[in-house]
Amino acid sequence: MKAFAYVNPANEKEAVAALRDAGVAMPIGGGQDILARMKDYITAPDRLVNIKNALDATITPVAGGLRIGAAVKIVDLAENAQVSRLYPNISAAAIEVGTPQIRNQGTVGGNINQRPRCWYFKNEEFLCYKKGGNRCFAPAGENQYHAIFGNDGPSHIVHPSSLAVPFLAYGAKFRVVSASGEREVAAANFFTLPTLQNVLKENVLADDELLTHVILPAPGTARHGHYEVRYKESHDWPLAFATVILKMSGQTISSASVVLGAVAPIPWRSEEAERALVGKTLSEATAAAAGEAAVRGAAPLSRNGYKVQVTKTAVKRAVMRAAGLRTV
Ligand SMILES: Cc1cc2nc3c(=O)[nH]c(=O)nc-3n(C[C@H](O)[C@H](O)[C@H](O)COP(=O)(O)OP(=O)(O)OC[C@H]3O[C@@H](n4cnc5c(N)ncnc54)[C@H](O)[C@@H]3O)c2cc1C
Ligand code: SF4
Repeated sequence: MKAFAYVNPANEKEAVAALRDAGVAMPIGGGQDILARMKDYITAPDRLVNIKNALDATITPVAGGLRIGAAVKIVDLAENAQVSRLYPNISAAAIEVGTPQIRNQGTVGGNINQRPRCWYFKNEEFLCYKKGGNRCFAPAGENQYHAIFGNDGPSHIVHPSSLAVPFLAYGAKFRVVSASGEREVAAANFFTLPTLQNVLKENVLADDELLTHVILPAPGTARHGHYEVRYKESHDWPLAFATVILKMSGQTISSASVVLGAVAPIPWRSEEAERALVGKTLSEATAAAAGEAAVRGAAPLSRNGYKVQVTKTAVKRAVMRAAGLRTV
């Protein structure tokens, strides 16, 4: 590993100052993603800025919603009673991240900003677009775990963050700071589909910016369903998953939010599935129709066509969970 400096700022102001004027400076939360990349010679910062003592590590009620500090550990998010009461899909996603060790170490900010897990990206021998090269190895290579939506390229990753998906579905905003000020970015505008101009990043965060908070609006009365499909029920990322939030008017669905994970370079909102739900009553048939609608625009690569069926099932079962129907 290349030698690097380590800075331990005490607050937000010191943290953003430490990200400046230091060659390549990068924040570190739990370190599970960035340290692995450094050991694999994928990332080589001159300075690591520890955010765990600098950023907020609390979950605070605001205006009927919650404000979640970026330094909150995933385990604390998963076990928080207010989160599970107001935003059960966030608790469901958090409890399924990795293993207890990963959830004990990983932070909310680090989870949202973790880099792709594409095996070509993680192998120093493959100089792909995301490492400044001029090709993507996935379309003609091993693409079993790659995208089935948003596949115009140049990169075909799936976004690796499980938490990003329900954050987007619940209409979260992200507070972002730098030495020159702060801004709020809707989660729906934070993640970016790859283009040749922005392919080195997965979101709109500048190099000197930190994500400090996730701000969740009051959820109102809703039904919630979240369903993840894994190759096996152990510690790996999901193959595909769906988060569904339904608002009801009597027995009829009046509005729906359906966001898919592990299927596209960004958390993928399925307006097709939402349209299939609105105006319908809750039933297994409605759930199945939403699953069918969700995958209508899928464009799988050569080896990941199976993810279409997995995604369809995840959407159907997430809707059934929201309806209180048995899924198996
Ligand atoms: C076996 C295994 C299974 C896993 N399964 C899942 C899964 O199912 N779902 C899932 O979501 N993840 C999964 N992960 C990934 C794991 O959850 C993430 O690596 C972890 O959440 C990252 O958090 P961290 O705090 O350790 O991040 P770090 O490694 O500290 O940081 C990650 C990146 O974010 C940047 N960063 C950190 N904090 C901030 C901030 N506040 N503002 C801006 N940038 C910041 C860092 O510079 C770095 O580039 C798995 C990992 C493993 C090893
Ligand atoms: S999918 Fe993205 S990260 Fe993977 S090889 Fe292609 S450009 Fe690189």
